[in-house]
Amino acid sequence: MSDYQYPLTEQNIVINVYPVELVNVKRLIVEEEQVGPATEEILRKSANNWSKAMSIGMERELSLALKLAGSERDSHQIIFNNDGLINEFSHLKTVEDIEAFSQKYGLLGVNPPDSEQVNSKSTLVWATLQPYFIYNTYGFSVFEPIDLWFWHINEVRQILKLYDVVRKDSSDDRVDDLIEIKEHSGRFGSLAEDRTTMDRYFVYWTEGELILMLPKDMEERSMLEIGQYTLSKVLASHISGGIHLGVGELIRNPSTKGFKVSERRYTPYLLAAIYYDLWQKINDDKNIFICGNKSCGLPFIKSRRKKYCSDACKQEAYRERKRKGSDTL
Ligand SMILES: [Zn+2]
Repeated sequence: MSDYQYPLTEQNIVINVYPVELVNVKRLIVEEEQVGPATEEILRKSANNWSKAMSIGMERELSLALKLAGSERDSHQIIFNNDGLINEFSHLKTVEDIEAFSQKYGLLGVNPPDSEQVNSKSTLVWATLQPYFIYNTYGFSVFEPIDLWFWHINEVRQILKLYDVVRKDSSDDRVDDLIEIKEHSGRFGSLAEDRTTMDRYFVYWTEGELILMLPKDMEERSMLEIGQYTLSKVLASHISGGIHLGVGELIRNPSTKGFKVSERRYTPYLLAAIYYDLWQKINDDKNIFICGNKSCGLPFIKSRRKKYCSDACKQEAYRERKRKGSDTL
C-alpha cells in the first residue's frame, strides 16, 4: 500500500486510486466479491460493524455504502492536487456526486467501529456509537457508509460557515446561529480524584451535535471568542492523526557548507487531505462566500469575482431570475 498516499506539500503528483463502487448493502454478497480472501474478511467485518453501530447508536439502517471494487491491479492513476479539494468536497450534494468523487479520488479512509464496541452490552459503550466518535478514526478502509460521507460534507460546510462568521469580527448573534452553549452536570475529570460532580459548559452545533467541552477559562468569554476557539479545536481534531511528516530533498548551502532537509507532508487518508486543504485555506486567510443561488446557499472559497459556487448554480439562478421576470409581465 506504499503508493496509496496523498501528497500534501507537492502538486501534480501521479497517484494510484483503487476502484470504488456504490452498493446497496442489502444486496451485497461478500462471497461474490472479487477482492481476495483477506479483503473479503475485512469487508464482511466492516459491513457488519457499521450496520450494528448505526442501528444501536443512531437508530439508522445502513443502506448505501461505497466499497472497494477490486485489487491493486485494477487501480487507475490520477494527477493529484490537494489544493481545491475542499471546494469540490463541500459541494457534493447527491449520492451520485459522492460516488463520482470517490471513483476519482478513492475512499475517505475511516476505520470501521471495533467489534468489542458494537457487540458490547454496556449502555456506556453504546453512548460512544455517535457520528462524532465513530466517523472520526482515520484508518485503512474498504467499506464506508454513505451517511459517513454526508456527515463529513456537512461538517466541512459548518466549519466554513463558522470561519466566515468568526473572522469578520461578527456580532455574537451571527455566531449564535451556528453554535450554542449548553450546561451539563456530571463527572468530567479524567483522573479518579477529579471525578466529582460539577457543572460544565459544552459547545454544540445549533444543528444538534456536540463539538467540545469548554475549558474553564473560556467560560466568561464572548461568543465570538468561543467561536474562534471552537473553530481551531474542530480543525485540530480533524487533522490530528491524519497527517504524516516525511523527509524530502537534501538542500545544500554552498557558502556555509551546511544543508537542510525539505519537509514533505502526505497522508494515506483522503479525508485528512480534505481537512488539510480546509486548514490551509483558513491559514491563507481566504474569503468565504455564500452561493448566490437561493436553492443552494453553500459556502465556498472564492478565487476570482464569483457570485455562485458552480456553473450549475449560476445557470440555475439565471433561469430563476428569468422565470421571475416573465411572471411579472
Ligand atoms: Zn451553489
